[in-house]
Amino acid sequence: MHTLLSRTLQPVKDFLFPPLCLACRERLASAEEYLCARCSRSLVHVDAADYTMTVLNERFAASGIVSALHPLYYFEEEGALQSVIHALKYEDMTRLGEVYGEELGASLSAEPVCADARLIIPVPLHAQKERERGYNQSSYICAGIARVLTLPIARNIVSRRKNTRSQTKLSAAARLENVKDAFNVDARAAAVLRGAAVILVDDVMTTGATMHSCALALRTAGAAQIVCASIGVAKLAPGRLPPV
Ligand SMILES: [Zn+2]
Repeated sequence: MHTLLSRTLQPVKDFLFPPLCLACRERLASAEEYLCARCSRSLVHVDAADYTMTVLNERFAASGIVSALHPLYYFEEEGALQSVIHALKYEDMTRLGEVYGEELGASLSAEPVCADARLIIPVPLHAQKERERGYNQSSYICAGIARVLTLPIARNIVSRRKNTRSQTKLSAAARLENVKDAFNVDARAAAVLRGAAVILVDDVMTTGATMHSCALALRTAGAAQIVCASIGVAKLAPGRLPPV
């Protein structure tokens, strides 16, 4: 009944409140969803060999904690992806997490480590923040990945013990210190994690500090390989020294 009603009312709703592109606010064509074709085309897939990835790989994968970094698109201030992530995190548009999670899952299926992956783990929010927001956006990204890779999601293995301050204005070194020891792995999860390859998921990696700290907690608890996956990665400009 509910479905029938919403199906009947959808054209009326679309007439009164036409769906708009999340980024440019132009009216969407009927085949478009969330972003118009132009804004969709503005999303740039990450080049695994470029400057941003070289810097991040040197900074994190070299430590041996992380086996691979796998972000999907570049995240730039005022870019279309910023609007998508904002809607996912602050406007209850959790479906976006699943949609982009499916795309991320398809891309991850080409990652050799993922062939052995046993679990998908969302980077947790602090319990208080999750209560305020009502959900953890990364869990929805995991749901999309899980659908493509047919892997289970472990939502309660890791918790965030510090309500870390906002990282927006911190340098990479200060971010590392800010999130140091921020994560706690449930002791009961040791048996599940021992020797396992896992996919750790966040919405956006900036300096990678949060992912790295969470990965370290998982490695300490016995995980053998960790792939850090995200929808976005902050693009570093070549020629400008990376934040350290
Ligand atoms: Zn647009």
